[in-house]
Amino acid sequence: KWSEIPLAPPDKILGISEAYNKDANTSKINLGVGAYRDNSGKPIIFPSVKEAEKILLASEVEKEYTGITGSKKFQNAVKGFVFNNSGKDVNGQQLIEQNRIVTAQTISGTGSLRVIGDFLNRFYTNKKLLVPKPTWANHVAVFKDAGLEPEFYAYYETSKNDLDFANLKKSLSSQPDGSIVLLHACCHNPTGMDLTPEQWEEVLAIVQEKNFYPLVDMAYQGFASGNPYKDIGLIRRLNELVVQNKLKSYALCQSFAKNMGLYGERTGSISIITESAEASQAIESQLKKLIRPIYSSPPIHGSKIVEIIFDEQHNLLNSWLQDLDKVVGRLNTVRSKLYENLDKSSYNWDHLLKQRGMFVYTGLSAEQVIKLRNDYSVYATEDGRFSISGINDNNVEYLANAINEVVKQ
Ligand code: PMP
Repeated sequence: KWSEIPLAPPDKILGISEAYNKDANTSKINLGVGAYRDNSGKPIIFPSVKEAEKILLASEVEKEYTGITGSKKFQNAVKGFVFNNSGKDVNGQQLIEQNRIVTAQTISGTGSLRVIGDFLNRFYTNKKLLVPKPTWANHVAVFKDAGLEPEFYAYYETSKNDLDFANLKKSLSSQPDGSIVLLHACCHNPTGMDLTPEQWEEVLAIVQEKNFYPLVDMAYQGFASGNPYKDIGLIRRLNELVVQNKLKSYALCQSFAKNMGLYGERTGSISIITESAEASQAIESQLKKLIRPIYSSPPIHGSKIVEIIFDEQHNLLNSWLQDLDKVVGRLNTVRSKLYENLDKSSYNWDHLLKQRGMFVYTGLSAEQVIKLRNDYSVYATEDGRFSISGINDNNVEYLANAINEVVKQ
């Protein structure tokens, strides 16, 4: 009976926006959802994306379905962008040339995580998937629904507002051989704290020793340095290990939601690096078999924008890189402004400056976050993660003052 269905709790992140929308306080601030806002608090469309849309509007003559795994043009654009790294990644280039990368357009990053989850559940030997503690809340939900068994590995020490690298290594080493391990490529969500290249080296040594299957999630490529080509050290190193035959395969979930601002266009990809061209063929066929009964084929508007931006004849690549750099620059500015306005005598806020990406992981307790909401109409998730694009010149002092008051109490 339908009347017996229990009420499901609202989504932890999207529920925040619902509550924010209902609040009548004109000073209210939404620091919940990770979507970019400009200095006047408004969402934007990247100018380069608008240009690409103009080209698309003028040239598009049909709205036919794309392939189950998207168009070749989109797949090649992604491969060139991520694995060839504009000519700098010789190993990635070699893997492309040897047909050892299977790329499929997916329904943004979430869709790619779900597709790889289903794929691994169907074809990989182990169900155990290790995710950092903490991680983006939807990771656990997606992988559980895909039939995998997510379990946490140590990542962050909340009491120190810092990475807990010693425990990270220890907890990974204690996991069963052959587990799947989820790695955030950059701008770890929610903490904003990434591993250094040296620390990645140590983690990848464990990955090889334990025969883990690396599954990389890259939703914020470009948000660490401002340049997407600089934020893929982990991918380049993994490609090198594959070429050196020290690693057989890995998978990459990638999204254009944030770095092209294509959120609702749902544009992203899954790539699986394989041992051989024959393996690629089989994997691609199985991805098609898996996707076809779920959503048949991905949406085309966002993927065509991506195709145009990466198509040299349109000359839009540099404009896009500049647009992205500007977005990341503003986030870094508000991060520093928030830091400047916080009272450092009652709390050490230095960790804010070490974090990268769309968020600051404040270290505030759930009680403090609730107090901010109830007393100041500042909305954030109860883990103390603030999406800093909600901060601007008009509200940064109000916000800092609210935080200072709540910390003092
Ligand atoms: N992975 C991480 C870590 C994310 O933060 C997000 C977006 N919040 C995603 C994946 C997926 O985003 P989308 O489905 O919008 O591409």
